Amino acid sequence: MNRVAIVTGGSRGIGRATALKLAQAGYAVVVNYATNEVAAREVVAAITGGGGTAVAVKGDVAREDDVLALFAAADRLGPLKALINNAGILDSQSRLDDMSLDRLRRLFDINILGSFLCAREAVKRMSVKHGGTGGVIVNQSSAAAVLGAPGLGVDYAASKGAMDVLTIGLSREVAAEGIRVNAVRPGIIDTEIHDSSGIKGRVQMMREHIPMKREGKAEEVADVILWLCSEQSSYVTGALVPVAGGRC
Ligand code: NAP
Repeated sequence: MNRVAIVTGGSRGIGRATALKLAQAGYAVVVNYATNEVAAREVVAAITGGGGTAVAVKGDVAREDDVLALFAAADRLGPLKALINNAGILDSQSRLDDMSLDRLRRLFDINILGSFLCAREAVKRMSVKHGGTGGVIVNQSSAAAVLGAPGLGVDYAASKGAMDVLTIGLSREVAAEGIRVNAVRPGIIDTEIHDSSGIKGRVQMMREHIPMKREGKAEEVADVILWLCSEQSSYVTGALVPVAGGRC
């Protein structure tokens, strides 16, 4: 029987790297994406070409119907053992006094509400209380949860702070039900998300502020997520793990 993992936003960036590594570790992977079908299909092809199992499922994590369809697709592959709550957005650089209600709603809907809906569906399937056999949830937080992102996006930072609280609270809620819940807090990782900030060359500009003097790679975050999914972290739950080159 397949061990199934869902990676929300698994088509690009950190999610893509995580989906590929989960497949190498033997998971059948559900690669969720919002709009970029070509990228999602490329990830699925890379996994199936290597002998693994993967499906691409389009869906906006902020929409409950889409989340239910995403989990139904996972159910068809086998028992869900891992959820990576990775999908997230960053909006353009802005102070709070310039943020519209639409911007705030969209960001919190995707970054937080979506993660809550996915975590709820995962617990329903994994918890021994509901007849499941346990599993792991890994949430994508950010170093921004600690740093606050002033002048750049305190909305984004606050959404990641909420991810931290979701991680701590839910980890304790389901710790005796076979589910471990942890988060990674990446720093500056070289992905396309930074283009959304509208700041050209943001990743390169940030290098001098990082103690290790370089940005991280998506694979370096994926490796930590894989560890949090593995038996090597069997006594770790409620952890918020910095993956930030010392900038945390
Ligand atoms: P990315 O390269 O921009 O990729 C984002 C992924 O999320 C894409 O697969 C995208 O799908 C998907 N997505 C966006 N909105 C979605 C929605 N509403 N529903 C479902 N999927 C959606 O981003 P990334 O840098 O890999 O970031 C991944 C996560 O890590 C985010 O939560 C981000 O906040 C967090 N993070 C990133 C950094 C960094 O420096 N990169 C640092 C800290 C935390 P489409 O391709 O279809 O749009």
